[in-house]
Amino acid sequence: MTSLLLTGISSLVTNDPTHGGPLGELHDAALVIDGSTVAWTGRRTAAPAADAAVDLGGRAVIPGFVDSHSHLVFAGDRAEEFAARMTGTPYSAGGIRTTVAATREATDEQLTANVARLVTEMRRQGTTTVEIKSGYGLTVADEARALRIARQFTDDTTYLGAHVVPADYADDPEGYVALVTGPMLDAAAEHSTWVDVFVERGAFDADQGRAILRAGLARGLQARVHANQLGEGPGVQLAAEVGAASADHCTYLTDADVDALASSGVVAGLLPAIEFSTRSPYPDARRLLDAGVTVALATDCNPGSGYSSSMPFCIALAVREMRMTPAEALWSATAGGAASLRRTDVGHLTPGARADLAVLDAPSYLHLAYRPAVPLVTQTFIAGRPV
Ligand SMILES: [Zn+2]
Repeated sequence: MTSLLLTGISSLVTNDPTHGGPLGELHDAALVIDGSTVAWTGRRTAAPAADAAVDLGGRAVIPGFVDSHSHLVFAGDRAEEFAARMTGTPYSAGGIRTTVAATREATDEQLTANVARLVTEMRRQGTTTVEIKSGYGLTVADEARALRIARQFTDDTTYLGAHVVPADYADDPEGYVALVTGPMLDAAAEHSTWVDVFVERGAFDADQGRAILRAGLARGLQARVHANQLGEGPGVQLAAEVGAASADHCTYLTDADVDALASSGVVAGLLPAIEFSTRSPYPDARRLLDAGVTVALATDCNPGSGYSSSMPFCIALAVREMRMTPAEALWSATAGGAASLRRTDVGHLTPGARADLAVLDAPSYLHLAYRPAVPLVTQTFIAGRPV
């Protein structure tokens, strides 16, 4: 194994509390990568020798983004639906069926190529860990296929057979829940780390959601929930009840929901690119943070409700529209995402962590929100290697 010294770092965000503050930020810093992991971080003048050295010339370095929520296995797009929405047609969960039809038609090669394209797009923007869900197949074979393809790109694959009741089961939703908790789960489980359900009016209710999550848990999967996106509902409470890692969306919460998140330790996954692209009210991040809830920021990249793969865009929205501080937003997009995926090896640059990082053509991480939509990420490292 060879070691690499990155020096000339104007601002290094480590998320290592031993360096002080929630971000563990160091100025005039250096970092040593040994093989695939971080070996050392500290002041440039105290850096140890390494086999090779690169001077970053006063750029900032941050932990790679951990995007804890995406739907990348699909075919087609819904640009026309987006255009209609921008002229007044409201978003509803039923639009998912459009993508289901296109995805079932696609070949394995087409689906794999589309995931590869989107993962490359994410890496270029600093994302080094991504969770990928199924949910546009909704048959036994198509869900298993989606997860098998997703597994080529990440270990954090999520079985979302319960995305919406497909048209072929419109008159028999209970029959569909039986499929999702039975033969579909049997086919999906070996390719999945997580089980998820869309608990919402027009999708699945609390009893159906509970049955689906418990079936997944019984098969050794861990739970996450699409909760409280379009209105108040039982999703967050269900996430707390079953010990889910995260409740994502959290746009409409009661005080009891906020209390449940705070006391259960369920991470609240906030997905502001969805509110942006559906022209909806943003979740109240301040209320969650002030209650002590752990917050993750993620893209929810999908062809319907929001087709952005950009974590920097989510950070800019979180700061501008959700009143998170730039430091809170960056933490939530890195360490918060790792907490949402129950990962301890990523989301921070503490010695021993996987050397996943992004180099910014900027003197400080503040520029991520200060310069929205500017491609500041100049280099992304995954496990110590530039990608
Ligand atoms: Zn989603």
